[in-house]
Amino acid sequence: MSPKENQTAVVRVSGLEKSYGPVKALRGIDFEVPAGSVLGFLGPNGAGKTTAIKIMTGYLAADAGKVEICGLDIAEHPLEVKRRFGYLPENNPLYLDMRVSNFLEFTAQAFGLTGTKAKAAIERAVTQTGLQTVYRRGIAQCSKGFRQRVGLAQALLHDPELLILDEPTNGLDPLQVVEMRHLIRDLGKTKTIIITSHVLPEIEALADSVVLIHQGRKVADGPLAGIACNGHGSCIARVTFRCKDCDLEGLLEQAGAVLLEERPSPFADPSICSALIEVEGSEGLSRVAQAAADRNVDLIELAPQSGTLESLFQNLPPGSEL
Ligand code: ATP
Repeated sequence: MSPKENQTAVVRVSGLEKSYGPVKALRGIDFEVPAGSVLGFLGPNGAGKTTAIKIMTGYLAADAGKVEICGLDIAEHPLEVKRRFGYLPENNPLYLDMRVSNFLEFTAQAFGLTGTKAKAAIERAVTQTGLQTVYRRGIAQCSKGFRQRVGLAQALLHDPELLILDEPTNGLDPLQVVEMRHLIRDLGKTKTIIITSHVLPEIEALADSVVLIHQGRKVADGPLAGIACNGHGSCIARVTFRCKDCDLEGLLEQAGAVLLEERPSPFADPSICSALIEVEGSEGLSRVAQAAADRNVDLIELAPQSGTLESLFQNLPPGSEL
């Protein structure tokens, strides 16, 4: 069975709470990450993403709640759990005065890999992250993009089934961002990945599903398309019907949807019409489907449009910087 077919949860987070003095960073967060999926852990600045990641990776203790990775509680089995994941922290702390090669040898040792096992693990991680050209170079002499790859290589060295990447493209130039996203997308074919970001297009480019947190609380959770039309705010969807001379405007009015723009039919068949509409959340989408059914109109497609996560952020209550 391929990892993508095995949908058991690799990560289970329940009731996570954490305060720094008077600041409540996490107020009870629950979510699961199915095996083989890429989860976008999303939220405005200060939402609590890094705090949650630090608890999940055993760098911070929670005040309440539980994190299980591969069925093991991180608080009870910290070492065993740390063997199961690779972690690229925010700001990617590296020893700048080391060469890439020495740093990876040192990391291999830290994971208990020696001799031919260490050599094979380093070769694999260097190939996976495309570090061959800078392998003998000092880390301080590497570009920010290559340093980020070195961080990714150390996270991959022990071939973990889970990768946790905290803002992995932060501070990279646009070309480096594209390269890093390619790398992450490739890794997502075989590994379970949690990636945090406050950059919406990044999550849209990489993640299968999203957990959105805001002021320490989870406010949305699910597949990206569903999330985009999940809040109370409006969202944009493309709708395609098959109907001869059907009253598209009447149908949308019945559903409480707004016609934004009729689109050329994506098919040669003139009885098929397509439009961009605005609806109120997932209920608005359901009403469009119901109105089509009531009128015996063949509904071919009803798809929330990418980019509407922006509206979800905009609809969050005030109090966070974006
Ligand atoms: P960003 O996207 O800016 O990295 P974030 O979603 O990762 O933000 P956290 O860094 O987890 O959010 O911070 C959550 C809240 O906890 C914020 O209000 C932050 O100011 C506060 N906080 C984080 N670390 C500490 C700390 N060590 N001491 C006190 N307050 C902290």
